[in-house]
Amino acid sequence: MGASNMGKLPKVELHRHLEGAVRPATILDLFRKNCGMFIDESVESILPKVQITGADRSLADFLAKFEFFMPCLRSSEDITRITREAIEDCAAEGIVYVELRFSPVFIKGLTGLSYVEAVESVLQGAQAVDSGPIVNFIVIIPQPAGEKAGWDSVRLARDYMSDGITGVDIADDTRVLGLEEYVRPLAWARANGLGVTVHAGESEGPESVRVAVERLGATRIGHGVRALEDQSVVTLLSEKGVLLEVCPTSNVHTGVVAYIDEHPLPELVRRGVAVCINTDDPGISGITLGGEYEIAHRIMGLSESEIVRTNLEAIEAAFAEEQQRARVRSILEAL
Ligand SMILES: [Zn+2]
Repeated sequence: MGASNMGKLPKVELHRHLEGAVRPATILDLFRKNCGMFIDESVESILPKVQITGADRSLADFLAKFEFFMPCLRSSEDITRITREAIEDCAAEGIVYVELRFSPVFIKGLTGLSYVEAVESVLQGAQAVDSGPIVNFIVIIPQPAGEKAGWDSVRLARDYMSDGITGVDIADDTRVLGLEEYVRPLAWARANGLGVTVHAGESEGPESVRVAVERLGATRIGHGVRALEDQSVVTLLSEKGVLLEVCPTSNVHTGVVAYIDEHPLPELVRRGVAVCINTDDPGISGITLGGEYEIAHRIMGLSESEIVRTNLEAIEAAFAEEQQRARVRSILEAL
């Protein structure tokens, strides 16, 4: 397997936001259909509004892209469509197992759909794809929304566990409310069999990773790269076998890491932290998972076998049924 084969390698994606995985062509189509806007514009002309360009280097730049295009999503059909397309895109990237994450609280606020309608629209999108990766879903609690939104989200996730919602996450601007706000709903989620992953150690420092693991019981951390700033947190991750869902290009696009060749992924591997490689928001970042593997290999110097091992670590930490895990493991081990 050479570097050029990264595209073909079977992949596990644990950290991909549905709302950040919308195709630019679909955004344009929905703006035309729902808002009568951009009728005469091409996809190329709206790209700078919906995708990160070289000049964008902050969380604010990143969030501005979301704010621009989110209003194009209006209906249950729109949510179903972006879900179906996101899964089709995963299939095209050679992804054999994916966890797509989305926020019913956010979708409700955006479209006026109820929580139940938001979830069922997403699930219908998955049902519309005949072949492709094994798909599970993670319900996101938007961090600034508070404990009540946390409870609404975890109860909703539990209600749809048999339909493939297997975990919960806390995301969004993590500086507004402390993670402690969500200790009780996440304890309830764990007690009910849901997996817990939390965005931490991205805009916030290593202490946020410690809180996510020790207080919220997260077995995975979204990003977590700033754990490296505190050796005791690195030790905690290793001891507990917590997996970091590392998203290299996303970290550069939000300004967590200045340049891709300074990304701490190789350092995390060297220090024995379990990691996997992810896209985060492939629509906004204009990336694919295969492209991230190429970066990890060619720029960061991870060997091919190290990259294969990240996939094996990912499926072990996946919020999946044992049968699904075994199926994916057999594909990965056949390499
Ligand atoms: Zn994320």
